[in-house]
Amino acid sequence: MTRLLYKKILLALAACVLLGSCGQPDSRVRQPDSSAPGEENAASAATSAPESQETAGSPDGNGIRTVPETPQDENSASGPGESAEAAKPEQPKLLYHINKAYNVVPNEEETDKKVVLLTFDDGPKEREMIEGLIDTLDKHAAKAIFFVNGYRVKAHPELLQLIHDRGQIIGNHSWDHIDLKKESKAKMRQQIEDVQTIVKETIGEAPRFFRPPFGSGNEVTHGIADDNGLIYMTWSNGSLDWDSKNKNKPDAVIQNVLDQLHAGSNILMHELPWTVEALDELLTELENKGYGFVDPDSIGPAPAADQTAGQAAGQTDAGRQKAK
Ligand SMILES: [Zn+2]
Repeated sequence: MTRLLYKKILLALAACVLLGSCGQPDSRVRQPDSSAPGEENAASAATSAPESQETAGSPDGNGIRTVPETPQDENSASGPGESAEAAKPEQPKLLYHINKAYNVVPNEEETDKKVVLLTFDDGPKEREMIEGLIDTLDKHAAKAIFFVNGYRVKAHPELLQLIHDRGQIIGNHSWDHIDLKKESKAKMRQQIEDVQTIVKETIGEAPRFFRPPFGSGNEVTHGIADDNGLIYMTWSNGSLDWDSKNKNKPDAVIQNVLDQLHAGSNILMHELPWTVEALDELLTELENKGYGFVDPDSIGPAPAADQTAGQAAGQTDAGRQKAK
């Protein structure tokens, strides 16, 4: 009798242990999403980002502002004075796209084509440089894409948050800044998707733009970007600020951009001290020449017709200058 009772207790105990361990994987699945806003975006960014971007832009008609999805309290806490502007980020209509030559071009004839896109790669590195760049961008009412590396975001998530809080746009520049073309498909995917994840976890939304390090990508890279709803670009106007011969020469950086200037210039710059120093004069020169600064939030996926039309422009990744 007692042996039978003992057996029952043992069975009950075994059942408890089993149930207990079955429960664990569930909680492990949820565990990484400690930041609430990231969770919803995870699903939508992976599957339906391009559609949701288009529909997000369309209901408001003629570029009338829609209510931002990001919580405003975070932004309004970020700073004094003009950052009140950044406290209500607007979702502009999608007016532009990136063509095959990586220029930014209007979707429709009547939209201003005399514009440039400003981009800064390889951060986030230092608060002082980031604030210097953004102070100048604010002065000129300009927005830029900051293409970040995952390992740097991991080291300085607060700098990523700073860029975002000040109303600038985050892009994906791979985790390790390696030549993705030389990697396996799985490694390439991890290099891109891990950045999507850490950015989403840090600021609550995943990047919409991707630029491969060194402008080096292939069809597989394009496919992975597509899978993640990412708009792929290299650049069409290299400031050469990464070239050692231009180190500490802001004037050379400005001249390089002006020498290559054309409507739709996708300008590649980096988070570097001499670029911080050059930016104010560069933006003034661009304004004086009648160029506007494209808001990256107004750039959407390329219309189907441009997929083939752009190829005639002839620029390819292969023919591009080496860059960081
Ligand atoms: Zn780079």
